[in-house]
Amino acid sequence: MEYMPNFQLHRPTSAEEAVKLRSEEPEALYVAGGTDMIVNVRRGIEQPENLIDLSGVTELKTITEDDEGLHIGAGITLNEIATNEKIKADYQAVAEAAAAVAGITHQQYGTLGGNLCLDTRCLFYNQSEWWRQSNDYCMKERGDICHVAPGGKRCFAAFSGDVAPAMLVYQAEVELVGPEGSRRIPLSEMYQNDGMNHLTFNPGELLTVVHLPKALAGSPSRYEKARIRGSIDFPLAGTAVRLEMDGKKVKDIAIALTGVNPFPQIVKGTEDYIGKAFDDASLDALRDNVRKQAKPMKTTTVAPWYRRRVIGALARRLTEELAG
Ligand code: SF4
Repeated sequence: MEYMPNFQLHRPTSAEEAVKLRSEEPEALYVAGGTDMIVNVRRGIEQPENLIDLSGVTELKTITEDDEGLHIGAGITLNEIATNEKIKADYQAVAEAAAAVAGITHQQYGTLGGNLCLDTRCLFYNQSEWWRQSNDYCMKERGDICHVAPGGKRCFAAFSGDVAPAMLVYQAEVELVGPEGSRRIPLSEMYQNDGMNHLTFNPGELLTVVHLPKALAGSPSRYEKARIRGSIDFPLAGTAVRLEMDGKKVKDIAIALTGVNPFPQIVKGTEDYIGKAFDDASLDALRDNVRKQAKPMKTTTVAPWYRRRVIGALARRLTEELAG
C-alpha cells in the first residue's frame, strides 16, 4: 500500500450539494464508508484530485416505510441493515447479505450505496501499483491488454457486492439524483455486462435511495456465499434465492448471482418452475441452469470451474431449504 496521495476533500451536507460539486469537478469521486475506495486510492488504482465525502449527507441515512414498501437511504450502513428487525423479518436475504460483507468492522462503515456501486474486481487489477506496473497494467486501468482473456476486447472483472443479488430477488428499485434531476429505475437496470464500466449511471449521478416493494415483504429468501476466508472476504460466488410455495408447488421464485459475472445477474428461466413441485431431478436442472448462466473467468485465485460448480450447488441447496 502507498501513502494516501494529496486530494481535496469536499464535505457536502445534502445530496443536491454533492451532485453540484460533482458537476463542477467531473473527475471527482463520491466516497461513503470508503472501505473499498480508500484501498483502491492507496493502491493507485484510483487517483482522485477531489473526493466528495457523503458521510455528512443525513438525508441518505434514513429508513422509512409506507404503503409502497421500505425505502432505505444509500448511506445506511451494512450493519444497520443486517440488524434491522424489519429487514430481517420481511427481506431476510437482504439482511443476510449485509451480514456476509467482509468483516464486522467493514459492515460498521460500509454503506448500502457503496456496496451496490462496488467497483468490479480482478486478480490483475486489485494489486499494488508496482505489481500492476511490472505487468504493463491492463485494459481496465492504464494498459492495453487483458491478462484474463488476452486478445479480447472486453474486461471480465467480477462484480463482488453481496447485497445486490438479495435486492434483485425482491425487485428493488433505486433513486438516482443527477444534474438533470432524479430518476427511479429497477436496480437490475443500474448494471451492465462490462467489467470496465458496469454501472449505467449518467454523468454525476448519485444513488440516494433503494426501494423494496411491500408486495414482496415476507416472501421467504436466503443469501449465501463462498469465500476463501470465512471471517472476511469478497464472494467467490454468491447466490440469493427467494421462493414462495403454495403447498408443495412453487408460487414464485427468483434467483440472483454475484461474483461470477461483471454484473449482479438475475437467473433466467426460473418461471418454468412455477406451479410445479421440486424433486431431485428439477433441483438438479435448476442447479445446471444456474451454472450455465454464471460465467466466472480467471479473475480470482480460485479456478472458474470451481466457482461455477459452487454457485450451482449454493442455488440448489438454498432452493431445497426454502422449499422445505
Ligand atoms: Fe484487467 Fe482483464 Fe482483469 Fe479486466 S479482466 S481487470 S481487463 S485483466
